[in-house]
Formats: sequence, C-alpha cells, structure tokens
Amino acid sequence: MDWPPVYDDRYRPEPRNRYWFPELETMPAEARERLILEKLQAQMGWAWERAPFYRRKWQAAGLEPGDIKSLADFQRVPIVTKQELREDQAAHPPFGSYLCVKPEEVARVHGTSGTTGKPTAFAISRDDWARIANAHARIMWGFGLRPGNTVFLGSFFSLYMGGWGALVGTDRLGATAFPFGAGVPGQTLMAIRWLRELRPTVFYGTPSYGLYVAEKARQEGVDPRRDFAFRILFFSGEPGAGIPATKRLIEETYGGICLDTGSMAEMTPWMTNGECEFRTGMHLWQDIVYAELCHPETKEVVPYGKEGVPVYTHLERTSQPMIRLWSGDLATWTDEPCECGRTYPRLPKGIYGRVDDMVIVRGENVYPSAIEEVLRAIAGVGEEYRVVVSREELMDELVVQAECTREFEAEAAGRRERLEALRQEIEARLRAVIGVWARVRLMPPGSLERTEFKARRVVDNRDLFRSLREAK
Ligand SMILES: [Zn+2]
Repeated sequence: MDWPPVYDDRYRPEPRNRYWFPELETMPAEARERLILEKLQAQMGWAWERAPFYRRKWQAAGLEPGDIKSLADFQRVPIVTKQELREDQAAHPPFGSYLCVKPEEVARVHGTSGTTGKPTAFAISRDDWARIANAHARIMWGFGLRPGNTVFLGSFFSLYMGGWGALVGTDRLGATAFPFGAGVPGQTLMAIRWLRELRPTVFYGTPSYGLYVAEKARQEGVDPRRDFAFRILFFSGEPGAGIPATKRLIEETYGGICLDTGSMAEMTPWMTNGECEFRTGMHLWQDIVYAELCHPETKEVVPYGKEGVPVYTHLERTSQPMIRLWSGDLATWTDEPCECGRTYPRLPKGIYGRVDDMVIVRGENVYPSAIEEVLRAIAGVGEEYRVVVSREELMDELVVQAECTREFEAEAAGRRERLEALRQEIEARLRAVIGVWARVRLMPPGSLERTEFKARRVVDNRDLFRSLREAK
C-alpha cells in the first residue's frame, strides 16, 4: 500500500454515478477493517518517526507502532485530549511537537482562539490540503452535489476551518463556489438579494444561520421556498441539522434536503462525519478518518447500538496527525444498512450532547470551569455563579452572574463606583481568558441557588429556532 495516498486531481465520476469511489464506499466491513488497519499502521509509523509528542506518549504506555496488529490492539493506544495539544503547543510553539513536516511545507495555518485565551494552531501541509479537498469533494458528492451546482457559502472566512473546508470541496468537485461569507452587519440583507438573483442551488452555513436567512427573507416579503432555489442545504458547527424537528423545519422552509456534517476542526477533513442524500444520520467515512465510539469512563469501544464519545484518528494526514483524539461529544452508532448502499457505520441521531459542561458561544468553545477559575482569583467575588447563554437575533449573548462576598458588600456599602469597578474587572479578565465577551452581573451574596453539579451552573436559554416556528 502506498502511504500517504496521492489522489488524481483530474478524477471525477460521471454525474449519474452515486459514488465517488464505489469500491471504498461499499466494501464489506471485514475488508474495510483490513484497509483501516494498514492505514493506521502507516499513520502511526509516520508519527512515531517524526513526532516527539506521540513517541513520548506511546513509550510511556509501553507501546510502539509495531505492536498494533489488529483494531482491537489499537484500543491500547492512549487517548489524546485537546488540553494536551494546548499544553504541547505552549511548550513547543507554534505548532507543538506533533508537527510531522518541515515548517516550510505548511501551506495553511488555521486555528481556534481556544478556551483559555491561548489559541491552538492548525498547520496543514500542501499535500494534506489536496487530500482534504479530495475527501470533502467525495463526501459532498454523496450529498448529491454535482458540477453545475452553485454553492452559497454563508460562513465565516477566518481562522475557522468550516467555510474553507466547504470551499475546497466545492472547488475540487467542480461545482461553482459563491463564498459569500457571514458576520458583517447588513450582510444577510445583501445575501437575500443575491440569492434571488443568482439562485444558487446549495447552501452551506450553520443551521441557525440558515433559519435566520429565511426569517429575514420573510420580513422582506421574500419566500425562501419560492424565490430561492436551494435543493441541498448542508450544515456544520452546531448540532441542529441532526435534530429531526429542525431538519424538517429547514426542509419545509426551503424545499430542499438538509444534511448534517462535521467532526472537529482538529480532525480536518472534518466532513468525514457526513450524511448522505438519504439523511439517516452522519456516516463515518472510516477509511479517511477512523472513528471509534468509546465509553465515557472506561474508554472502551462500545458495541453498535450504544452511546459513546467519538474518538477520531486521521488515516492520511502527514502534517499534524491526530491519533485517538477525544472529542467529548456524545452520540450513538449503528452499522445497520443505509439506503445509499454505503457500508460506513452511522450516527443515527447525530452528535447530541457533551460529556463535559462545554457550551459553544459565537462559535467558540467555552468551559464554565475556565470561568470559575477567573472568578475564584478575584478578591470580592463570592462562591456561587451562573453562566447564562441566550440569543439575540443572530448573536449569542453570554451573561455571567457572580455573587460578591459579604465582606465586599459591607465594604462597598451600596457605593455604585465600587460595584462597577469590580464588575468591569471581572469582565476584562474573563475576556482575556475565555476569548469571548461576557456581560457580568454582580449578585448579592447568597442570592443564587446552591447546586452540587457544575453542569447545572450553566443555563442555556437559546431556543435557536423559536422565532421562526412562531412565524410559520
Ligand atoms: Zn447513506
């Protein structure tokens, strides 16, 4: 087997063909397992030679790549957490000791602003970028997307990987890209005009943005079903497209099919969790990224039909391979056949939860534990707090309610400027650490209900789709 694989960039199936690579997509489970194992061994060998991060980690576990002779053996490979990646990048800036190519081979740098204000950098080599484009084109072909379609990309073009992944897939597939972007004031109204004129047939963005566009269109007297031409709408960045009621709402609103996609930015090509045109839950495109569903505590792989945490492994990534990256997401999986004929297992209910208390605010992962750490370090701030997330139109709103101490209350004695100074100090420190703006409300001591469970300190009031439902 040649590894890493090199794809022929001129290849494209006939438009009537359902599959991009028929053999790979429909092979029996045992044959695929053999293929995955071969690719795993090559991927691990590559990382072992080049990444001190993995060498240290595997040596500490008493393992080397040659020990992995079956997929069952692979479960002995220790899991990697995002926290470890952040720490490793801090110790070995900028890309960590898991960068397996020379810095000059890096073609693209992407990243996140991180959960503690410290960004995580993704370095992607030119060869990997080409493989990512091939993977995304292949999966988008499975949506039913074909050359001749015009793809409206209504997402941020920034460090964020989502929009870029959809763009390279569109390019490689030979469809027409319309990289419109998102997030600029007034842009949605402009989009509505363009969508009527240009009539793109494919939409990409977040589900909440898809519904927001429809809501705005109606306010302008535009019927998203009659006046736009979307036939395929695919989404990432939020779980909505995998929630049956939301999927139905999007399909009724636009008169097209709604598909759920997305694993993690670190796992780019992130579309390897991706639905097919039959929308039976995201297929796991296991010969590109190998996904295991693991028990949240024992970390053992759970049988089909059960719930677990997806753990992902790149099978063709040379720059920053992720080998057993813990997602922290919750899903169930099944190997029951899908009407499309692909033999990949599926997440029939998509990704529907988290094992930790992380919330996504304006596209950033926010951990209440990071907020707690900030609060604990400021004199005058008491024990109890709440993190309240809501949504005003398109924007998430993050409010932190923090009790002050009895001592502070006595000392401030209702003096506004003392209270205001403390409030502003908390806001500034939170901003520096969590990377998104939070409004702080100071609460009298003892005013918040006491709770044993950290997760209950998070109140998520976002009913992303309520206004649209009411409009219908
Ligand atoms: Zn399918």
